[in-house]
Amino acid sequence: MSDTLPIPEKVRVFLARTHGLLIDGAWHAAASGRTLATEDPATGAAIGHIAAGGSEDIDAAVRAADWALREHGWRAMPPPERTRLLWTLADLIERDAEELAFLESLDNGMPLALARFSVTGAASGLRYNAGWAGRIAGEVPTLSAPDHHAYTVYEPVGVVGAIIPWNLPLTMAANKIGPAIAAGCTLVLKPAELTSLTAIWLGELVVEAGFPRGVVNIVTGLGAEAGAALAAHPMVAKISFTGSTATGQAIAAAAVPTLKRVTLELGGKSPVFIFPDADLDAAAIGAANGIFLNSGQVCVAGSRLYAHRQVFDRIVDTVASRADALSVGPGTAPATQIGPLVSAGQKQRVESFLADGARDGCMRVAGGAAPTGAGHFVRPTVLAGAQPHMSVYREEIFGPVLTIMPFEEDDLDALAARANDTRYGLAANIWTRDISRAHRLARLIDAGTIRVNGAGIDHALPFGGFKQSGWGRENGREGVLAHMELKSIAIRL
Ligand code: NAP
Ligand code: MG
Repeated sequence: MSDTLPIPEKVRVFLARTHGLLIDGAWHAAASGRTLATEDPATGAAIGHIAAGGSEDIDAAVRAADWALREHGWRAMPPPERTRLLWTLADLIERDAEELAFLESLDNGMPLALARFSVTGAASGLRYNAGWAGRIAGEVPTLSAPDHHAYTVYEPVGVVGAIIPWNLPLTMAANKIGPAIAAGCTLVLKPAELTSLTAIWLGELVVEAGFPRGVVNIVTGLGAEAGAALAAHPMVAKISFTGSTATGQAIAAAAVPTLKRVTLELGGKSPVFIFPDADLDAAAIGAANGIFLNSGQVCVAGSRLYAHRQVFDRIVDTVASRADALSVGPGTAPATQIGPLVSAGQKQRVESFLADGARDGCMRVAGGAAPTGAGHFVRPTVLAGAQPHMSVYREEIFGPVLTIMPFEEDDLDALAARANDTRYGLAANIWTRDISRAHRLARLIDAGTIRVNGAGIDHALPFGGFKQSGWGRENGREGVLAHMELKSIAIRL
């Protein structure tokens, strides 16, 4: 394995500190005094300690957020001030970009290049959302009653509880903070236990940026403790959750007693279609990148590849040789293209799917032994011969595992039926030069995001899932609206 870069001095100092919870503008130890170790997934070694927040800490954070909103003037904060705070936070992220990227790579395992990209994305997401502050206005509807004047206004929903996963930690944290602040809410963020370090650094930047106390609170800790307490807290008006479908179901259930607003960004098993008229090399490389990026730990990962029979062998060859050529190693080694999975548990989960696939008769056309040692490495793997009843075909593996199937149908309804044969509906990718086919198939697939010929994602585009991939949308205007209540005000003249 290639050599890792030395840990930058500021990161080393940060790691050596004992980290607290950001509640009401100051850092506190967990009420229980407990801490959790966080590890470098490339080595399995502990690299730092975070506070294990619990229900008492969540209660303090929610009360601080409620006080900031209702009593300490956040509600009256002019929108340009909220814009300015988000821009300042984005500037500070860029100032610390190298340290944040290194820390993200060390904590999550992602290659430094991806970590740098995600730091830039976090800053640009905050700036995008900053532009929405004060831009969402109501209407003056024409009424049937001639002696009435009425209008609608959007108001912040209240205290938001944001719960995020470990796969893109800083990006997720920024994507939760941006729209909540733009909408005029305050929030309590619960990062994933496995990867809380960049959220803590971000919390320090929140303080430095001058956010009033209590507006952004960050409580690290376990999902079953801090997360569950946040999802159930009666003073939380809305939960914005990103994570697995199973946890999303638990969150929705926890929201029922107080009828909280809930948005859920959940898992996927997203299809990719390559037609014979596509730019085949770009399509094959795009498909490989789409599943192997971040070791497949990406919710929109294109994990089911359907290639037309006419080009199937060529696509398999290109994807497989790309997979075998990717260099696997620690994220903080400059040569690394594929880092470790986030944890021993995640590696075990992926390996158990691979064992299922082998038992079910799939053929491994790329992949093989990963670097040995204590790191949680899995080589990019391509499986041929998967059938719809198999777990590798149906389940979200959340690892660097691609199943590749041929198709012969020219009938788009039949292809869409294959795309839609899943409980998920997050994303789909289409590679073709036939624009009519691209548009028609895009309309037939039940998924929130359809990308054609390698398009990326954008903060301006609403993002979310059909079916069990979630509730509601993030990003775009919808992402901000999801943090607002609509009120009608009518006056008899
Ligand atoms: P997860 O287990 O659902 O965890 C997500 C977050 O929820 C973590 O902060 C976790 O805390 C917390 N949590 C766990 N149990 C909880 C409970 N009972 N109540 C409240 N919070 C709880 O998901 P993950 O394994 O971290 O992430 C992988 C999954 O996320 C995949 O399925 C992936 O598709 C999905 N994902 C979706 C999107 C999207 O936008 N659609 C984006 C990224 C990931 P701890 O981990 O600290 O215990
Ligand atoms: Mg870690």
